[in-house]
Amino acid sequence: MSEQKVVKAKWLFDMVSDKPIEDGAVIFQSGVITFSGNYEKIKNKIQPDAKIYDFKDKIIIPGMVDCHTHHNGFGDGRSGDDVGLIPDDVLAIKSAKNAKTSLYSGVTTIRENGPKNMTMMRLRDAVNGGLTIAPRMVLCGRPISIIGGHMGYFGGEVTGEDESLALARQLIKEGADYFKITATGGSTATSFPLRPSFSKSELFAVTNEAKNYDMLTATHCLSTEGTDYSLDAGVDMIIHCNFDLPNGESKFDPKLTEKIVKKDAYVNPTLHVGRARVWSLMEGKDAALGGFENKRLNSISITKDRKNILDARLDMAKYGLETKLDHCRQMIDMGVKVITGSDSSWGDYALGNTVHETELLVEAGYSNMEGLKSVTINAAKALGLENQVGSIEVGKSADLAILDKNPIEDIKNLNSVTEVFFMGQSIRRGSEDSNNSYIQKSPQI
Ligand SMILES: [Zn+2]
Repeated sequence: MSEQKVVKAKWLFDMVSDKPIEDGAVIFQSGVITFSGNYEKIKNKIQPDAKIYDFKDKIIIPGMVDCHTHHNGFGDGRSGDDVGLIPDDVLAIKSAKNAKTSLYSGVTTIRENGPKNMTMMRLRDAVNGGLTIAPRMVLCGRPISIIGGHMGYFGGEVTGEDESLALARQLIKEGADYFKITATGGSTATSFPLRPSFSKSELFAVTNEAKNYDMLTATHCLSTEGTDYSLDAGVDMIIHCNFDLPNGESKFDPKLTEKIVKKDAYVNPTLHVGRARVWSLMEGKDAALGGFENKRLNSISITKDRKNILDARLDMAKYGLETKLDHCRQMIDMGVKVITGSDSSWGDYALGNTVHETELLVEAGYSNMEGLKSVTINAAKALGLENQVGSIEVGKSADLAILDKNPIEDIKNLNSVTEVFFMGQSIRRGSEDSNNSYIQKSPQI
C-alpha cells in the first residue's frame, strides 16, 4: 500500500450534503478516498506515518468537472475553421499545454467536445506513457459531422446511416468514450446553423450503437429542430440548446423544453463563450468567428465603416448573450438538468476559466450551491462518472481542489484555487504569476 495522505482545512464541501463540514478532512491512499468528514471524528483512522496537508482556513471541494472542452483551441478569437488548418502535431502539443492549464485551475475531469483527428487520443497515449499530465479525459475522438457540417474540418464527415455507423465503430476502435455529433450547423463557414444537419435515421444509427456499448451521446444544437431530432433519437446531452428558428429568430420553446425534461436529457447551454466574445469586442479585438457571423452581418444594414462593423458585432454578441441567459433562466425554472460545460478554448474563451460558465449559470438562476453542484457532482452524473468523481466520498478518486475563498459566498471564488490533488497526487502548479496568466477577466471600462 502506498503512503496514506490527509488533507484538512476549515471547510469541506463534500457535495453529498448541501452544508459544508466544519474542520473537515479527507483521508486517502493509493489515489482513493478512504475516509472523509469532521477531522475529530475521523482522526483515529490516521496512521502514524501519514503525510498531512493542513490548509488551515481554506476550503476543500471536489476537483471540478468540465463537461465541454476544446483542448486543441487557443481561446484568442480564432475560428474553428482556422484551428482545423493547423497540423495535427502542433494541435497535440497545444492540447498538452492546455491540459496542464485545466488541471492547475482545479478541473480534474474534462469531456472533450471536438478535437481534430487523433490529436486527443495521442495526448492520452502520451499521458499513459508518463510523458505529461492531464485531467481525467472523456474523449469523443472527433465530432461526427455531415459533409460541410460543423467541425467537419476535424476529420469526421459522413453521409447516410451506414457511414455514420461506420464512423461510430471506427471511433470505438480508436478508444472513444462517447459520441459527439453536430446535429446542426455552427460557426463553421460551410455549415447551416439554423437547420438540422443529420436526418433522424442517421442520428439513430449512432445513438443505437452508443446504447449497444453503454456509451453516452451529445449533440451540438443551435436550432430548435436540431434539438427536437436529437431528443427523438435518444441523445443524452444537448449542447448549446439555442432556440433558433429557420428564419433566424431565437424564440424560447416551452413545449420543446418540456420534452427535454421528459426525456431526462442534460443541457449544456455554453453561456460564457458568448460573453468572452463580448469582452474581446469591448477591448477592441477584431476577432472573426468565421463565415457564419459574416453571413449574419451581411443581412444587417451597416456601412462599410470599420467602427460600425465592430459596433454591430458587439451589439449582436450582447444581444445573443442576453437571449441565451433568458432562455437558460426559463430552462432552469422548468426543471431542466443544466450543467457546466465551458466550451473553452473555443472562440475567445481560453481554458483554465471554467468558473466563468458556472458564474453565468448562477446569473441565470442557480443558487451558488447549485452552481457548485453543476461543476462537480451533477457534471459527473451527466458524464456517467458519478461513481468515480464529483464528490468527496469513500471509494472515489482523491481529486480535490483547495480554495482560498468560499464559493457559497460568491461563486466567483471558484477562481481562488491554491492547490490541486489529482488521483491522490499533489499537483505542482508552478508560480502564482504563471497561474494568474491564464485567467481571463472582464474588461475594466
Ligand atoms: Zn464546443
